[in-house]
Amino acid sequence: MTEDMISVRLENLMNFNCNCENECFNDCCRDLNQALTPYDVLRLKNNLGISSPDFLRTYTSLHYGPGSGLPVIEFKPNPDTGYECPFVTPEGCSVYEDRPASCRMYPLARAIARSRETGEITQYFALIEEPHCKGFGKETRQTIKEWLKGQDVGKYNEENDKLMELISLKNQILPGKLEGAQSDKFYLALYDLDEFRAQIVEKDLLNEFSLPEDLLTKIKTDDEVLLNLGIDWVKFMLFGIKMTFGE
Ligand code: SF4
Ligand code: SF4
Repeated sequence: MTEDMISVRLENLMNFNCNCENECFNDCCRDLNQALTPYDVLRLKNNLGISSPDFLRTYTSLHYGPGSGLPVIEFKPNPDTGYECPFVTPEGCSVYEDRPASCRMYPLARAIARSRETGEITQYFALIEEPHCKGFGKETRQTIKEWLKGQDVGKYNEENDKLMELISLKNQILPGKLEGAQSDKFYLALYDLDEFRAQIVEKDLLNEFSLPEDLLTKIKTDDEVLLNLGIDWVKFMLFGIKMTFGE
């Protein structure tokens, strides 16, 4: 696919209108090569009411970054239907309320830089003008900021920035390829949340840490708390950073 990326700011106008009347409706949900974040997986498996092992096995493929050894989870597109997303229907996205961050952002791309001194995050945005997308050039008079609000992407960015922080730590502390056991921990604690929970609750995976009782109770039902614990654990196991237990 050819791409033109145009750098934009939050206050710029975004004359873009995506709707089911556009001739390109659903075209962006085909020919997929789409990586999912841990928070994307959490939302999607809960939308479908299935466990993370079932979701990952049925709807995604896994490979490891050749240079980093980090797990990369992608939708398993169907070659018989033009490599469509498993969730696209003639009426649109069947998991719309819980669609991944990249689907919410499209046709915007977002990158961040984090200050090493303060931890403050600066966001950068670019518009991706792909020929198949006919939503451009429509007079909506919305700013980029307003459009983003409409996509309800704030919570996703907040959660996904934690993954970016982990990747940045890995690049600083463990440059090069992770070992198999390190990659497995990353996958288990971030993507395979229900298996991670089972290993904590039924197999005492974290018994060396004396988890606070209220945290142990919360992770039995709260996937977001569990994901944050997983990030905490990976920071300790891979980088030797003391666990905070969400404090
Ligand atoms: S999750 Fe929904 S919006 Fe995203 S590619 Fe699949 S069908 Fe399209
Ligand atoms: S290709 Fe662009 S305008 Fe068409 S449905 Fe997808 S995002 Fe909307």
